[in-house]
Parts: sequence; C-alpha cells; structure tokens
Amino acid sequence: MSLVVQKYGGSSLADAESIKRVARRIVDTKKAGNDVVVVVSAMGDTTDELLDLAAEVSPAPPSREMDMLLTAGERMSMALVSMAISNLGHSARSYTGSQAGVITDAQHGKARIIDVTPGRITEAIGEGHIVIVAGFQGVSQATNEITTLGRGGSDTTAVALAAGIKADVCEIYTDVDGIFTADPRIVPTAHKIDRITNEEMQELAASGAKVLMLRCVEYARRFDLPIHVRSSFSHHEGTWVVNQKEGDSVEDPIIAGVAHDRSEGKITIVGIPDSPGRAAAVFKAIAGVGINVDMIVQNVSAGTEKKTDISFTVPKEDAGRGVEVLKAMQDELGFEQLQYDDQVGKLSLVGSGMRSNPGVSATLFQSLADAGINIEMISTSEIRVSVVTSDDELDEAVRVVHSAFGLDADGEAVVYGGTGR
Ligand code: ADP
Ligand code: ASP
Ligand code: MG
Repeated sequence: MSLVVQKYGGSSLADAESIKRVARRIVDTKKAGNDVVVVVSAMGDTTDELLDLAAEVSPAPPSREMDMLLTAGERMSMALVSMAISNLGHSARSYTGSQAGVITDAQHGKARIIDVTPGRITEAIGEGHIVIVAGFQGVSQATNEITTLGRGGSDTTAVALAAGIKADVCEIYTDVDGIFTADPRIVPTAHKIDRITNEEMQELAASGAKVLMLRCVEYARRFDLPIHVRSSFSHHEGTWVVNQKEGDSVEDPIIAGVAHDRSEGKITIVGIPDSPGRAAAVFKAIAGVGINVDMIVQNVSAGTEKKTDISFTVPKEDAGRGVEVLKAMQDELGFEQLQYDDQVGKLSLVGSGMRSNPGVSATLFQSLADAGINIEMISTSEIRVSVVTSDDELDEAVRVVHSAFGLDADGEAVVYGGTGR
C-alpha cells in the first residue's frame, strides 16, 4: 500500500462532468489499495474570473480581501470533488489549507509555506477517508489571516503536503501529457520529456513554463521529492522531475526545452549621464518600491557626450509604479527621457548541457536572424540563454529555436483541455 498525493489543476475540474471523471480516477487509486490525499485548484478559469470581478468593484482591492475572495475558488472545488466521491460510495473529507495545516508567512498574494502540520490529514487517512485539500492557500501563524501562495500555487501545496506526510508519490495532473520541450499550445511538434532534472525544471519554470509553479520545484528539490507530471485526461506515463544524483545515468540532452514569458515589460532610461552611482540610484529606487528586476542592459557611452541608455524588464503589473518613481527622480538622475514598452516577450533556452557545449548561443542567435527576428536584450545563466523580442514575434521565435535545436517530434502533442488563460 502506498500513500499517494494527487493534484488536479483547474482545467481538469472545469465542469461537473470533469469533476465526476476526476472523482472516478481518485476512487480507482483508492480501490487499488492506496491511501489518497488530493489537492485541488479552482474550477477552470475561476481565479481569473474572480480577479476580473474584483477589478470591477475596486481598482486597488485590499490584499487581505483579495485572498479571502480567491481562496473561495479552491473551496468550491474541494467540496464538489468530495461530494462526487461520496456519490461513488466512498468516504471523503475536504479541508481548507488552514485546516490541513498549511502554515505560511503573512504576505498576502504571495505567501511562502513555512511549515506543514498535517495532523487532521493523517487522522482522516487513518480513519479510511479519502482526503481532499484546497490548494493555493494557507494561514499565517503571525497574523491568523488566510493567505494565498501566488498563481499556480496548488502545485506547491501538493509538494509541501507530500513532503509533510511523507507520501510515496506526488502526482500533478494537468491538461497535457507531461512536461514538453516547449508549450504545446505554441509548438505543436514539442515532444514529451520522460525525465527532467529539478535544476532544469527550475530554470524552465522561472522562465515562464507555467506547467509547474517555480516554488513547487524548489520545494521538491529541497525535500528530494520526485514529482510525476501527467494528464488527467489520459493514462499515459508523464514526466518525472527528479534530483540528479551522482553516478545517475540520465542521458542528458544538451537542451531540455524552450520557455516563453509574456508577463514582463521593458523600461528604458534614455540619455542618463554615464558616471558612477547612476545605475545604483536607479535600481535602489526600483527596489525601494518592491519591484524585482529581471534583465538589465547598459552600454558604456561610445560618444564624447558621456551619456548612456539603461533598459531593464520588470513584471507588467509593477511597471506603472516603476515608471512613476523614476519620473519623480528625473532631475536628480539627469536623464532625458523615459520609455515603457509592454509589447515584448522573453524566450529562454534551457539545458544543463550548455555547460560543456560551446556554440549554443550562436545557434540560437543565428536561427532568430534567419527568421528575421530582432533581439532586443540578452541575458544568460549557467544553463540558460534568454532573449527579449517583440511580443508579436515571440511565438514564431519559440518555434524556430525549437526546430534549430532538433527538438521537433514527428507527431503533434495533444492539449486535452484548458483555455490557455
Ligand atoms: P493546471 O490548470 O493543470 O494547473 P496550467 O495551465 O497551470 O494547468 O499548466 C498547464 C499548461 O502549461 C499547459 O496546458 C501548457 O499550455 C502550459 N505549458 C507551458 N510550458 C509547458 C511545457 N514546457 N510543457 C507542458 N506544458 C507547458
Ligand atoms: N487557482 C490558482 C490559480 O489559478 C492556483 C492554481 O491553479 O494552482 O493560480
Ligand atoms: Mg497550474
């Protein structure tokens, strides 16, 4: 007998029929002799719809109330899945994140899990129930308030619970057959990866591949917990995300995959004096309003005028704040102009084989050049190369880079559900 944690995402729970289908899968797992803990997301696009609704009643909703609103989505799912299981003649109990012992820090909207105290969960399992837990939420010990973990947070709930109750398996069920070499919605010829290292998946998730939340991959790495990402619509074996051990014989391909991200915009400071301390002042101001900067480009001034431009990318939702704080400092910083471009996208090529294979960047840049796609910014890490392109060229860029590295499959990937929102 195994202790299994299964997480079902929103697209797997889009309507009553889907919920009944998922309930049958859960019951089958129980009938096979396992103890089962299920983590659920909100149905379909519920979270986005709740966000839209909040924006209609207030341009800047208090973050505490936002969390109260959004956690309702997962609460609906947990009760409905539990009811559907009961209807199949099995006993199920649903719990909110707080009841399940998901303890977080106090940051509304992006809380971190700091502890899991799963007493009620293990008790319910001991009594023979199937346990359903609302994902994406917890409770802060410091404030006693309900918190949410950030978009895609149910993945993190699943991994944290699996670690907390020492589960044998953590399965993440979604609307595609696993982790692919690119988003199958953009690259139909992407191929499914059988096994990927946590390190590579972490870079892909950080670069926008939302199939797994970044925090969940970090958590799994820390607790050395393998994750099985698979479809709730098929019975195919999915992708295993594993920590690579010494002597492990994973045949590393050079490239793991291509990720894309449309969540950032580009701020450019034009004509800023090229003298020590200016960049420090700019990024101190940006950090001062709580904004995380991703890519930065600055050149040494070539002319005699001793002025330069600085470009950097920030999350779109923070850009307004960033522009405002810099504008207020125009005289102090001495720049000529401030520009903001939200029509940009980022492509990232990820693979641990980059460490030992020179020429990866050259192939990447050449493939974009052949397709007539202009590169606006470049950044690299040990196992990643990222470029910024214009938004309308990003999908094409992902496809040409995917082909250039020989990642195309013969057949087409199946996308079973979801709206891609
Ligand atoms: P869920 O509702 O199950 O949490 P998500 O929408 O959060 O599902 O994540 C699944 C989606 O992630 C897929 O439908 C796909 O469009 C997208 N995706 C992005 N990159 C990848 C990738 N490399 N492999 C698989 N799916 C990806
Ligand atoms: N429902 C939340 C979201 O849409 C959490 C999740 O799906 O994992 O982000
Ligand atoms: Mg998700």
